[in-house]
Amino acid sequence: MNIVLKVGGGRASWWKQHLSTLLSEAKVYLANEEMNRDDIDYAVVWKPEPGWLRTFENLKCIVSIGAGIDHVLCDPELPVHLPIIRTTSPDLKVRMREYVTLHVLRLHRRLPEIVAAQSAREWRQIIEPPAHERRVGIMGLGNLGADCAVTLAAIGFDVAGWARSEKTIDRVACFAGEATRNAFLARSDILVCMLPLTPETEGILNADLFDRLPDGAAVINVARGQHLVNEDLLAALDRGKVCGATLDVFHVEPLPIDHAFWDHPNVLVTPHIASLIDPIAGGERIAENIKKFDAGELIADLVPQGRGY
Ligand code: NAP
Repeated sequence: MNIVLKVGGGRASWWKQHLSTLLSEAKVYLANEEMNRDDIDYAVVWKPEPGWLRTFENLKCIVSIGAGIDHVLCDPELPVHLPIIRTTSPDLKVRMREYVTLHVLRLHRRLPEIVAAQSAREWRQIIEPPAHERRVGIMGLGNLGADCAVTLAAIGFDVAGWARSEKTIDRVACFAGEATRNAFLARSDILVCMLPLTPETEGILNADLFDRLPDGAAVINVARGQHLVNEDLLAALDRGKVCGATLDVFHVEPLPIDHAFWDHPNVLVTPHIASLIDPIAGGERIAENIKKFDAGELIADLVPQGRGY
């Protein structure tokens, strides 16, 4: 079995070593190493450049290092017949659950105002309604979104979720499809975007959506920067329609140093850390999925052909 590995940053050699240990029968090549491209069976990738995957003529499968596959599907020359496996190791869920819970609670308990009051040495007691009077809306009830919805409901929040297909989740009001979107938004005091990036969801966090939220709602985006129309959020913040935003993902990452989000008093910027894949656990999951694929076994992480996320 031959694998080509395309990862960014300085961890490429580490990944090669890790996957070689886990898949002792495989030969693992880094993208810049000498290899016979026709012998490559699997490509394990993060943000491959457009046209690169097509150069491996006998590829059996593409493996995304991460839960999203938008970084693969955006390649206009992608061999579309190839199966794609995403990586959804359990630690991704745990980290996302921690992040979303932390930031929903921060907005719910108006922590930014408490911190500002402390800076002014002001004893400011803010009494907020209890969680069951706060309506949280989760856009996307997939692997990560459903887990966060269940966690927030367990804390006591009044939680709703929105997805493409109908769902039944204990203590979560589930909305499905375009026809229900506005009703879902109208009951989202804190809106969390956990959608995949697809042609349908790109730019979904826009002026029209903000107008449909309750006045003074808050927004958390942990999905992709391209879901958000930046100018529309800034305008909604400036007129008080949206009272605060927590943003973990951006159109350009790192967020450019002169971007308005950095200084905005009602925006919290975090550097795409909501749920980074743990390379050890992620590598184990990738190796397990490749072994299963090779043996023709069922793989939960296999993306249904044509679904687009
Ligand atoms: P997932 O399992 O693919 O779930 C996606 C959910 O979105 C599903 O419930 C799906 O509906 C729904 N959906 C898709 N298109 C829709 C549409 N047009 N309208 C309404 N609902 C739609 O994804 P996931 O693993 O939970 O991950 C979600 C996203 O989180 C990823 O794609 C990635 O962008 C982001 N992410 C961010 C970080 C970070 O560190 N910030 C880390 C990991 C992932 P159905 O259930 O009906 O299919």
